[in-house]
Amino acid sequence: MSLIERAPHQLFVAGQWRDAAQGSRFGVQDPGTGQQLREVSDAQDADVAEAIEAAAATQEEWAATPPRERGEILRRAWQLMTDRADELARLMTLEMGKSLAESKAEVTYAAEFFRWFSEEAVRIDGRYARSAAGGGRVLVSKHPVGPCILVTPWNFPLAMGTRKIGPAIAAGCTMIVKPAQLTPLSMLNLAALLAEAGLPEGVLSVLPSTSAGRVVNPALADRRIRKLSFTGSTEVGRKLVEQCAPNLQRMSMELGGNAPFLMFPDADLDTAVQGAVTAKMRNNGESCVAANRFHVHSSVAGEFVRQLTDAMSSMKVGHGTEDGVRVGPLISAEQRDKVVELVDDALSRGARATTGGKPLDGDGFFYAPTVLTDVPPDARILREEVFGPVAPVTTFDDEDEAVRLANDTEFGLVAYVFTRDLDRAIRVGERLATGMVGLNTGLVSNASAPFGGVKASGFGREGGAEGIEEYLDVKYLALSVSGIS
Ligand code: NAP
Repeated sequence: MSLIERAPHQLFVAGQWRDAAQGSRFGVQDPGTGQQLREVSDAQDADVAEAIEAAAATQEEWAATPPRERGEILRRAWQLMTDRADELARLMTLEMGKSLAESKAEVTYAAEFFRWFSEEAVRIDGRYARSAAGGGRVLVSKHPVGPCILVTPWNFPLAMGTRKIGPAIAAGCTMIVKPAQLTPLSMLNLAALLAEAGLPEGVLSVLPSTSAGRVVNPALADRRIRKLSFTGSTEVGRKLVEQCAPNLQRMSMELGGNAPFLMFPDADLDTAVQGAVTAKMRNNGESCVAANRFHVHSSVAGEFVRQLTDAMSSMKVGHGTEDGVRVGPLISAEQRDKVVELVDDALSRGARATTGGKPLDGDGFFYAPTVLTDVPPDARILREEVFGPVAPVTTFDDEDEAVRLANDTEFGLVAYVFTRDLDRAIRVGERLATGMVGLNTGLVSNASAPFGGVKASGFGREGGAEGIEEYLDVKYLALSVSGIS
């Protein structure tokens, strides 16, 4: 049986694999060919109701499971992901498009959240303190928030899931996962792997669906569901914040970005070009932390553009499973059309493509790695998330201008700063209105660090010591103790 035939394709409801109500299904396609890979069960109202019941019914028992036991399930899941990295990566490439090397890197990154949170599960601590007025004690402890609904996007089909599922398991929360319609296979594979690692029935349900609202709306309308963790667009995030209002569910919002990349004249050119390629081209440019606009000091812009153009034009584009391919297809025809629209808009306003600047012919949704110079300030590509392999370059003349340009956006996820001047690095790093800053690096993603944004990029953090707090409520017990001061 082929990998695709073997891949789980039914709903995973409370530990059981089964067809959706009425046998509903939908097709998942390979964006590298435009062909259907296979059909997957399409969750219906009755399936969602059952998953909500299971999450609510299992919560108390799961919360009472010893932290060590929960941690060991995560540790086993990390081991299984590591052992099966090649297979997980191939499936991801087939449904999402990125190159096999990128998919393997994502599997490692995704698995790392399980290892990290297996270690965090046993470090959920509290506090015993003397009350300020004396005569009493303050006992503070932390408890799972309760059943969660976790909603993930298509661009990192595993990692966006594990950085929610990992802390939820570690904290003792049950959960329903709604993967992106375009990439459900990786998440279903992960469910099978977690079951094999010993996750008790009822703790996790995975419900792919052609209607996100059909899964998410009833969950948020049910007051037993106590948390939403969402990764996706700012537009959808805004709606979901409103939907959480009636039941006041806790929320984590990992939303869109418009990352600036600042290169100062004292930066090391090779480091900056390498950082630019990483920050731009990871995941075909389809990443919330992708550098969206390059602001380069005017004295070094010419050489930076020359070297970036060389690097981008030498990247092999093709089906993600082919040898040596660095850039795979975009996820869909719509996504490619959006890139075409933004590049054409910039070109029509006077920008110039030093490489690329157009979609590629043939099957699949390919766009050529592109560098744009002379991009005018009113070009849409400087304001909107391009989500593709396009690097628009503009110039600045001093530090204040660089910071002003970088912060001139509603988003605030990440910024990249390239300079060898430590004072400047810290000064600029602190002035940037973002949740994360990459200093002389184009890669900030790291399971041991708090990932997240400010402003329209959302709130809440995933990973690091902060990640588990999103799944814990704080409880304070007032102790009246006689005979002590
Ligand atoms: P999206 O359209 O917002 O979709 C994200 C998820 O939300 C999908 O599972 C989607 O389901 C679901 N969804 C869509 N409409 C919904 C609704 N009305 N109610 C409930 N759920 C709904 O985003 P996307 O295009 O998949 O992902 C790209 C976006 O994600 C970009 O803006 C990117 O910056 C952002 N992102 C952010 C981070 C971060 O950590 N900050 C990480 C990765 C991506 P369907 O698949 O059925 O549409």
